[in-house]
Amino acid sequence: TDIEELLLSRIRDVADYPEPGVMFKDITPLLADPAAFTALTDALAEISVRNGATKIVGLEARGFILGAPVAVRAGLGFVPVRKAGKLPGATLSQAYDLEYGSAEIEVHAEDLAASDRVMVVDDVLATGGTAEASLELIRRAGAEVAGVAVLMELGFLGGRGRLAASLAGAPLEAL
Ligand code: 5GP
Repeated sequence: TDIEELLLSRIRDVADYPEPGVMFKDITPLLADPAAFTALTDALAEISVRNGATKIVGLEARGFILGAPVAVRAGLGFVPVRKAGKLPGATLSQAYDLEYGSAEIEVHAEDLAASDRVMVVDDVLATGGTAEASLELIRRAGAEVAGVAVLMELGFLGGRGRLAASLAGAPLEAL
């Protein structure tokens, strides 16, 4: 579609970042283009509303940049999922494996209620580890998963398959 072409045209491939052999998808040109940023925000908000979300969870750090305007556009609350040690209140924590080592993300437990249906928003789905851990956090907080909405899915990394169990039938939509 025209929107897909617009979004794709504003994503820059950066070779060998952050390490040799990786082709990094840089979204900063898209963010700097108001037409593209607005189109992206509108599309992610539409996915969220269509799937009955009541809250947007954004994943640090680019998921904050996208998730916050999506939440405002959709008329929903925004909840940050942060790297460990950044949130001041009572948190739930979830560790997950990286290629080398592990990472940990956290959410304020009181920001998600049993009545919430949560849409996870991020820029890029790569291996799916970060999104999978965030879905675990949402379930452990007692809330329901409405789905995962991303700008771009790197299909060759198999993230969709890794997420299948924790999505439990909820959609993964990539623009
Ligand atoms: P995963 O956990 O799926 O392997 O990695 C996804 C996380 O890493 C996302 O939060 C995403 O922002 C970041 N990420 C991984 N690869 C890329 C990339 O090529 N471009 C961008 N912009 N982010 C990436």
